[in-house]
Amino acid sequence: MITLRTAREIELIRKACIISAEALQVAGEAVKPGVSTWEIDKIAYDYIRKQGAEPNFLHLYGFPATACISINDEVIHGIPSKKRIIKEGDIVSIDLGAKVDGYNGDNAATFAAGEISEEAKRLCEVTEKSLYLGIEQAIVGNRIGDIASAVQTYCEANGFGVIREYTGHGVGAKLHEDPSVPNFGTPGRGVRLLPGMVIAIEPMITQGDRAIKQLSDGWTVKTKDGKLAAHYEHTIVITKDGPQILTAVG
Ligand code: MG
Repeated sequence: MITLRTAREIELIRKACIISAEALQVAGEAVKPGVSTWEIDKIAYDYIRKQGAEPNFLHLYGFPATACISINDEVIHGIPSKKRIIKEGDIVSIDLGAKVDGYNGDNAATFAAGEISEEAKRLCEVTEKSLYLGIEQAIVGNRIGDIASAVQTYCEANGFGVIREYTGHGVGAKLHEDPSVPNFGTPGRGVRLLPGMVIAIEPMITQGDRAIKQLSDGWTVKTKDGKLAAHYEHTIVITKDGPQILTAVG
């Protein structure tokens, strides 16, 4: 079921989204060679708690941390660990959210640890740009397929792979709500976009083949070919005046 949000609900979701965006920013600033992913997770946890909010990934479906932190060929759902030390040249995807006053925010970005390769840089730039191309299509009268196709077309034209198995989603009182927001699809197809819909758009893009595998930890998703992956995400609201990014730093 897709819920259309009232103006009051949108303001509550915005509050959760701003905290989510700020937590992602402080976590991203901490990405440096020599730092463990556990330390990054702790920084995000402390920031969210200090705002009087809750980390909404923590314990969701049994996930043990505040942030999913996925390095290089890890696409999503990496589990923070004291043993996982970030190295020079790594790309580090951080996905996290906060819940406050009963509503959720969700966002992700890929950060560079020191100097990264030109290819890694291009993958991150294309993935981030595809997110904004998807957001541009989030207008009343369009359909989910317009968002999906914008992301897919741009990433594939750049020679990259588009993950099919995981998608964006509605955001509200629950972190994951309807509708599903895939990163591949056909323009003009799927759910019609209406004012008051709040959705997370989140391209997960691979440098090589789009095939993935899950590790034995039951969480981490990696590329099968061992090539890099990037992940960017915003929670947005669709309004009659166009899309508005809610996960923006206040
Ligand atoms: Mg999400």
